[in-house]
Amino acid sequence: MRYEGIIYRPPSEGESVIIQATVGCPHNRCDFCNMYKRKKFRIRKVEDILEDIDMAGQTYDPRFVRSLFLADGNTIIMRTAHLLRILRRIREVFPFLERVTSYGASQYVALKSGEELRELRQAGLTRIHCGMETGHDPLLLKVHKGTTMRDHIAGGQAVRAAGIELSMYYLAGLGGEEMWEGHALDSAAVLNAVDPDFLRIRTFTPMPGTVLGTAFEAGEFTLPGPHGVLRELRLLVENLEGSGLVFSDHWLNFADVRGRLPADKEAMLAAIDSALALPRQVFRPVGMISDSL
Ligand code: SF4
Repeated sequence: MRYEGIIYRPPSEGESVIIQATVGCPHNRCDFCNMYKRKKFRIRKVEDILEDIDMAGQTYDPRFVRSLFLADGNTIIMRTAHLLRILRRIREVFPFLERVTSYGASQYVALKSGEELRELRQAGLTRIHCGMETGHDPLLLKVHKGTTMRDHIAGGQAVRAAGIELSMYYLAGLGGEEMWEGHALDSAAVLNAVDPDFLRIRTFTPMPGTVLGTAFEAGEFTLPGPHGVLRELRLLVENLEGSGLVFSDHWLNFADVRGRLPADKEAMLAAIDSALALPRQVFRPVGMISDSL
């Protein structure tokens, strides 16, 4: 298989075969993200992608391949007809796959009709990873996410209605000290309206080469400490009403908040309260990191 630049994938795709269908991110303007800053977005030729799938079939024993991830950012933007060809080839080469996934931000999912999403599901796309980050419109606008609370809800509901699993990501601390309450409450509202299969919690950390990284270095963005982030997470979890799984599968998080809603909600709140009771020095330092990998 051929890859261009650093390839990112969600931690849950650590065992997946990765096929690069797009290079970079079509948006590439979020103030907090540096993943694809060195890449100019393009969609790879379908024939090249099909060749890579065939190569993967010769590299990995198809009998043992259970999951495959279509990189890079927002592969869902590809024309549906092209995605269908790719998905069908994937299923031919890897007949024992249980999961095929890609990134799909709400604004790009919204470009697909319900019928197109159902066709993609039938062809084998089983899960979309969506970086919600926040459901709070003023914060979405401020960080140039390029989407709205309404898009998040419409896109998420469309994915679920098509029978595609949805993993939504929440970026704790993104609202800083000013917007933490709106960030938590509006995100809970989106999550309750969509009821994604998975909610995955991430903790915002400024990175070099990003607008928020520069603002942080200049003292123009106040990064909440561990207790501030945990207080925000508590408000989020308190207000969740869905039925999905919650994961905290990233090393930057300050507490291991995981379980199924609603049964484990009290246990998740108890885990946050236990972390809130710990002294500051127990947690990792807060500040800039070079990458969130
Ligand atoms: S957060 Fe997602 S949509 Fe925003 S620039 Fe990064 S990859 Fe693109």
